Amino acid sequence: MSDRPADAGRTRRSRSVRVRLLSIALLPTLVILPLFLGFTMARWNARFDALLISKVNGDLTIAHQYFRRLLDNTGLRIEALGESARFQDVADSGDAAALSAFLERQRVALGLDYLMVVGPDGRIVASAPAPAGRPETTGWPVVATALAGRAATAIDVFSAGQLGAIAPALAQRALIPLVPTADAAPTRRTVEPRGMMVHAASPVRLPGGSRGALVGGLLLNRNLMFIDTINNLVYRRASLPEGSQGTATLFLDDVRISTNVRLFKGRRALGTRVSSAVRTAVLDHGRTWLDSAFVVNNWYISGYEPIVDSFGRRVGMLYVGFLQTPFTRAKTETLFAVVFAFLVVAALSVPIFLRWARGIFEPLERVVGTIGRVERGDLGARTGPTGVGDEISRVAHHLDGLLDRLQQRDRELRNWNEELNRRVAERTGELERANRQLEATTKQLIVSEKLAAIGEITAGVAHEINNPIAVLQGNLEVVREIMGDRAEDAKTELRLIDDQIHRISQIVTKLLQFAKPEEYAGYVERHRVGEVISGCLPLVRHLLDRAGIRVRREDTATRLVLMNETELQQVLVNLIVNAIHAMPEGGWLDLTSRDEDLDDRRGVAITVRDTGIGMSAELLQKIFDPFFTTKGERGTGLGLSISQTLISRQGGSLTATSTPGQGTTFTIWLPEAA
Ligand code: ADP
Ligand code: MG
Repeated sequence: MSDRPADAGRTRRSRSVRVRLLSIALLPTLVILPLFLGFTMARWNARFDALLISKVNGDLTIAHQYFRRLLDNTGLRIEALGESARFQDVADSGDAAALSAFLERQRVALGLDYLMVVGPDGRIVASAPAPAGRPETTGWPVVATALAGRAATAIDVFSAGQLGAIAPALAQRALIPLVPTADAAPTRRTVEPRGMMVHAASPVRLPGGSRGALVGGLLLNRNLMFIDTINNLVYRRASLPEGSQGTATLFLDDVRISTNVRLFKGRRALGTRVSSAVRTAVLDHGRTWLDSAFVVNNWYISGYEPIVDSFGRRVGMLYVGFLQTPFTRAKTETLFAVVFAFLVVAALSVPIFLRWARGIFEPLERVVGTIGRVERGDLGARTGPTGVGDEISRVAHHLDGLLDRLQQRDRELRNWNEELNRRVAERTGELERANRQLEATTKQLIVSEKLAAIGEITAGVAHEINNPIAVLQGNLEVVREIMGDRAEDAKTELRLIDDQIHRISQIVTKLLQFAKPEEYAGYVERHRVGEVISGCLPLVRHLLDRAGIRVRREDTATRLVLMNETELQQVLVNLIVNAIHAMPEGGWLDLTSRDEDLDDRRGVAITVRDTGIGMSAELLQKIFDPFFTTKGERGTGLGLSISQTLISRQGGSLTATSTPGQGTTFTIWLPEAA
């Protein structure tokens, strides 16, 4: 009971060693490495995105600068033209037709859409092409600045009417039908009729000394050369990864008026509109948008910036961007590569780590198992060899050694114990034997003493009786003589008296024989016991017949015994008579004789066996005591004690075994006659 909790504690500890080792082995690969990789990938992803944004920011800056250059160049060229001597010559000549022709040549040379000279009051002095209506001149800040004496360039948005007044073809070119676009802010408009113009003006001197302005404009609607140039400048060949594609767009309000973004079938996406999110951020709030945005039909990393006109209004946007898909794909591929590499590393290293860990906890668990088995009593339990020669295997080996010694000690102790037990048993046996001997001797002593006392008395009594008997016998003879012939009449009575006197004399003789056996011992002779037994049977024949007892005999004895025949007969008759008494209802009387050795002494065993009433163990103890009888008046209790004395005198023994209700066996053993 007390070692249960300790046991449980041990398994818990050993389990925890296993768990701890497995944690140590697997934590770095399965927990820390993924965390580290995840963190690194997240950071890398953020950096990557930031890098893309910063690239698009750079792209937007380049586009912005090119746009500014376009404005500045236009301004500078018009300024240079206004200051040129040829312009001055033609202007000073006062020939309006010549001036118009000159302006037309210069417009084509400078790549402008119109070029005109405006007087101080806004009146058009000359114009190329020839105006179709009355173009607005004075309302423009750039013109006002030029008339005030300074050159100026800006972006301005011209209405369809204003464009038409300059040239109907211009209004037509500017007109862009709107294309319904997903994500764009809702609108009811169907066309964008306005035009976005690079608008430049430079002060000139008119004939007569008055101040005028040379005004030029470049329409940006559908100006694809301009946008393709920006795109080529920003996204030169191989400046983007395979599969990506640079785009640039000019917006008037939120409508694409010039772009290289393609719709399906390669048609340019003119008339499509920007997503409402970008519109709100850039046009409404004037911010620069740097993020991924949905452009027409795909996701682009995009940069948008507002375009402000000469009135300071946000009238449009400049956009550059590149297709996001290849970068996303590159990112996903990298992510998969990293995950795959991690899985490969884990698949390769985890089994190795597990093997190493097992190499530690398995021997430990085996050692613990061995200890457990030993505790449960299996002293032969051993851990055995545990592989590599590390500390654990040395501990296991050492433990096995200790257990070997323990087992050896245990075996020695057991042997010792057995030896002790054996010795104790030996001594106990010796003691028992001594005890039995003592008991037997004591019994013998008591019997001897009893017999001695009885002998004394009996001898005296017998002598005293012998004399009266002699007197009785003598007187009986005298009575016979006196009676003479009349004795015949009392013949029966006289014979009865004679018999009884003889009987008394016999009893007295027997008593004397018992009391002083040595005086009566006749000679001893060699006998075949079988013959002696045969001699007895006639003496008891009538008793056997009366009780209906049948006799079986078996005589195999070949040896001779040395004993007085009468005495041996007396003993046998005693035993047979006892057997007859024990079988009042009849039965079997077995008489056997055979050669038998007792305690290495050669001899003959005679058995007298009956199938009578038998005796209890208690009774068996007492039957050899003198005067012990269960027959009351009819018994003397001397038969067996005398028999034993007679047999003992010849160096033999008389013993009995009995089972109540089944029968009794008496065995006489006599030594062989030398
Ligand atoms: P007695 O025959 O005069 O009684 P013994 O000494 O011959 O005296 O026998 C002593 C007692 O032993 C008997 O009274 C009887 O109880 C018992 N005994 C002896 N032989 C036998 C026997 N064969 N079967 C049963 N009891 C016996
Ligand atoms: Mg008897």
